[in-house]
Amino acid sequence: EDGITVGELAEKIGQTPANVIKVLFMLGTMVTINSSLDDEQVELICLEYGYESKKKVVVSEINFEEIEIVDDEADLVSRPPVVTIMGHVDHGKTTLLDSIRKSKVVDGEFGGITQHIGAYQVEVNGKKVTFLDTPGHEAFTAMRARGAQVTDIVIIVVAADDGVMPQTKEAVDHALAAGVPIVVAVNKIDKEGADPERIKGEMSELGLMPEEWGGDTVYCNISAKKGIGISELLETLTVVAELADLKANPKRYAYGSVVEGRLDKGRGPVATLLVQNGTLRSGDPIVVGTAFGRVRQMLDDSGRDLKEAGPSTPVEITGLNEVPVAGDKFMAFETEKTARHVGEERQKAKQELDRGVSSAMSLDDLFNQI
Ligand code: GDP
Ligand code: MG
Repeated sequence: EDGITVGELAEKIGQTPANVIKVLFMLGTMVTINSSLDDEQVELICLEYGYESKKKVVVSEINFEEIEIVDDEADLVSRPPVVTIMGHVDHGKTTLLDSIRKSKVVDGEFGGITQHIGAYQVEVNGKKVTFLDTPGHEAFTAMRARGAQVTDIVIIVVAADDGVMPQTKEAVDHALAAGVPIVVAVNKIDKEGADPERIKGEMSELGLMPEEWGGDTVYCNISAKKGIGISELLETLTVVAELADLKANPKRYAYGSVVEGRLDKGRGPVATLLVQNGTLRSGDPIVVGTAFGRVRQMLDDSGRDLKEAGPSTPVEITGLNEVPVAGDKFMAFETEKTARHVGEERQKAKQELDRGVSSAMSLDDLFNQI
């Protein structure tokens, strides 16, 4: 009995047939709108566009009546916000990240040496907040340029003794372009000459009118160095996050973005991933950019072994065949065969792009619908 056609599948998942054809083309198969698809192709397309069989059945047993949007209302749960700190050089980004990290560490958790994986989570009144600890704007910009929208809230740090500087403006532009809520942290209020009111005026000119002046931007006066105002800032983040009503579905296979990738002499390719939706499990077959493999070891931001990581959790994993780069997207699959297939096709496509072979779509288009 013939399978579903490209046109029929496209209709069921609310995509244009052209999109379905493109995805298959990138996987190395030429089809037309009337071609019948085999089970594996159907599974790939469904995963590609965020659909999945409700039941974890083998592909040949998928009943199309059961295919639904994964992020079914009933499966959605609140997830922690992902926060990025931006601002002009020397205005205190690193000091603030350190200060937040230290302020929330449960006694003895770090045993002196803090592992650096480029992202961490803290708990504020029982609610988690994830911080991306990326070096400056570059990673954020690179991730955004590559379509990886990972940040839910941006904190713009401005030194109260210095005021708005070129990179402050740049940061505001990035955050406004990303369309995410902005919290302004007026830093170094411990310093002589600190003038938080002046900062509000300057930032208002960039479009960030303080709440107390009738606008909708929250300002927090802090000293990252002395630890002043940090808990208020963290509480503000939880309030802003609640208003944003961030949700995810922990029941689906994980997808998300690469925060950092590096080669470790002993452990091989190591990647810091941010799970954006779904649950990543140790042992999961996974494609990360053009790399693939199985999640061999999964560690949290304190270097502890993790078996499962839900939405907004930063993790460090090993088990990939090559080093991914920041902004690469990842996806876990049900079978290693599928992961390998997708990984290899993406590698082929990348080699073609590298060779300058023109391609109708970029590599990232493969994942850009998720
Ligand atoms: P970044 O370039 O934005 O990451 O800035 P840093 O965190 O490296 O801070 C730059 C300098 O400002 C360092 O010497 C910090 O110690 C200092 N600094 C950061 N926050 C404060 C603060 O709240 N008060 C004072 N007095 N100095 C600060
Ligand atoms: Mg810094």
